[in-house]
Amino acid sequence: MTRRHQQTMSPFEGVNYMFDQAADRLGLDGGMRHLLKMPYRELQVEVPIYRDDGSLEVFQGYRVQHDAARGPYKGGIRYHHEVNLDEVRALASLMTWKTALVDVPFGGAKGGVACDARSLSAAELERLTRRFTQRIWLILGPNRDIPAPDLNTNSQVMAWMMDEYGKRYGHTPSIVTGKPIELGGSRCREAATGEGVSITAQDAMRAIGLAEDRARVAIQGFGNVGSFAAQFLHDAGCRVVAVSDVHGAVHDPDGLDVPALREQGSGHMPLAGRSAATGRAISNAELLELDCEVLIPAAVGHVIHAGNAARIRARLVVEAANSPVVPAVDPILEENGVVIVPDILANAGGVTVSYFEWVQNLQQFPWDEDHIHKELHARMNAACEQVREVASREKVSARLAAYMIAVDAVSRARTLRGI
Ligand code: NAD
Repeated sequence: MTRRHQQTMSPFEGVNYMFDQAADRLGLDGGMRHLLKMPYRELQVEVPIYRDDGSLEVFQGYRVQHDAARGPYKGGIRYHHEVNLDEVRALASLMTWKTALVDVPFGGAKGGVACDARSLSAAELERLTRRFTQRIWLILGPNRDIPAPDLNTNSQVMAWMMDEYGKRYGHTPSIVTGKPIELGGSRCREAATGEGVSITAQDAMRAIGLAEDRARVAIQGFGNVGSFAAQFLHDAGCRVVAVSDVHGAVHDPDGLDVPALREQGSGHMPLAGRSAATGRAISNAELLELDCEVLIPAAVGHVIHAGNAARIRARLVVEAANSPVVPAVDPILEENGVVIVPDILANAGGVTVSYFEWVQNLQQFPWDEDHIHKELHARMNAACEQVREVASREKVSARLAAYMIAVDAVSRARTLRGI
């Protein structure tokens, strides 16, 4: 595959670029390779709703179930104008590898509705969610497929999904995760992805001999994942020197007051309007190239590419977003000594606590915060250790090691179950 082709890969081709390398190393044969690569089922549905002005509008919705050899399909639902089948396939496949890597008993799925979520009123959002749930409920179930929030969906959307599913199948909290706590959601779920990013970043820092108090951290995206990662790393003694939102970034070499920045963020106020956003205003592109030790892209995919990879100065890139580094540029970063903590490891904290939520729902027994933190740390640290061990034994990157562990686990499960 040429470097030019690697740069123009679709999201699903991008995930499979790594899958194929792992499959080659594991010696997977053609049949098993095809079975594990392609999704089990792809459902595309029309989602009609009446808008508030009485007009009828029809949206396209998707649910892709990639693999369930290790447990029920699991993955988020996103509402975004760029949602399309290829992207949903890619994200479903990533979920299969992520759940296998952190050893939670789920497979991989993803869903979405192509819409401009911000243009919908709360009532329209509710109608859209209930209609979409009706259109896909045949393939959902607590032992079949369990959705969760993703871009532009939240605990309220999960509450509507649970309620709508319950009208057909009876009260079933375990049908979705990321619910409000009042409806059976788990404590610590909201912070879990950011906490997992912080756990994996600190593990990688230990591995390269970088003490927290010497680590300057730059974070692109100060939403759910980025702001919680910033808080956990700040609490651990790191200096968070830059953060950004979609409008731009702020850079303060002396360190930002992360708790104050988060406190002033209610209502999604732009960073620029917060008095705690000290230092200099810079662009999102400049943030990525800052002189710092730890760079955390926590916003959108493909932000580190052939055009800027050679200028990344961080020692560690911790992939909080899905696919923030295009596959073709891994070697450029590696040649420059940059260590990457891959997305399927770095942002797996969310699905791990989703698993805890599902367990609590099935057992009808809520866990306390200490128990959740302890279990999350144990699972994330075990996955980090395994990735480092395989990377060193096989002399491969952390990303390839992570895929090798995941693909191996899924192929073993599939072989044991039979087809
Ligand atoms: P969010 O919507 O809460 O926050 C996103 C942040 O990124 C916001 O600050 C937004 O202003 C900023 N942003 C948006 N577009 C941008 C752009 N083009 N350039 C720079 N900044 C931009 O989303 P989130 O839940 O924090 O998710 C962030 C990323 O992490 C996404 O890629 C998501 O798929 C991934 N992820 C999230 C979770 C989770 O549990 N929330 C789990 C795994 C992966």
